Amino acid sequence: MTHSPYTIYAVQYARRETTSTELFYGDYHDTPMKMAYFVWALVSDQHTVVVDLGFTEEVGTGRGREFMRCPSVGLAELGIDCASVSHVVVSHMHYDHVGNYDLFPNATFYLQEDEMRFYTGKYVRHAAFRRSIEVDDVVAMVRYNYEGRLTLVDGVREIVPGVHAHRVGGHTAGLQIVTVQTALGRAVLATDASHYYHNIEKDVPFMVLHDLPGMYDSFERMRELADKPELIVPGHDPLVLERLKPVADGIVSLG
Ligand SMILES: [Zn+2]
Repeated sequence: MTHSPYTIYAVQYARRETTSTELFYGDYHDTPMKMAYFVWALVSDQHTVVVDLGFTEEVGTGRGREFMRCPSVGLAELGIDCASVSHVVVSHMHYDHVGNYDLFPNATFYLQEDEMRFYTGKYVRHAAFRRSIEVDDVVAMVRYNYEGRLTLVDGVREIVPGVHAHRVGGHTAGLQIVTVQTALGRAVLATDASHYYHNIEKDVPFMVLHDLPGMYDSFERMRELADKPELIVPGHDPLVLERLKPVADGIVSLG
């Protein structure tokens, strides 16, 4: 390793009540479940990368989510000032991953080209795709592209040394996961490629999906990329707050 290792921080900013039937493909048990909403920070001696932006209070409460704090407030607890962040990876265009971009005036945003193509393409008029999107978020990404502040990724790209984005698809057309070199080995931030540990550990797809075979492929890809299974961090599982190391209220770390 020619660079210092990263610590991954998961910062919870919202939550909601749901059921297993709403979440897991082929589940009809309606078991009550909780969903957590996170943003992530990857921090080394040299670099800070933020992964995903979360939703704003207005968007979240409008959709019935319990907004706990602005993601920037959680990041500030780690000493991260959003205005000084240079790199933000946007895993995909769903509303809970791509709000709050205004808080990062000096960042370059990284998004897969397939994701941009899909959400500016012909299928977005259909409710199944449209309902998870805030149009203003997509428009903001289009504007950033014209301003030279968006890097469209085609497949795999190094963001900074030790941090890579990888297109996996499945959940959305161009969902990307992030691999991170930590002191414990290579970790995978699954974001929505595995909402819960249950998805990847039991090979159970999530209910919101773009391409079912692609979702199984994304599970396989994450297993290949992570040095150990316990280094895969799901995107929405409250258990993350128990399995990783506590740092502060609603903030845990790995590495
Ligand atoms: Zn999603």
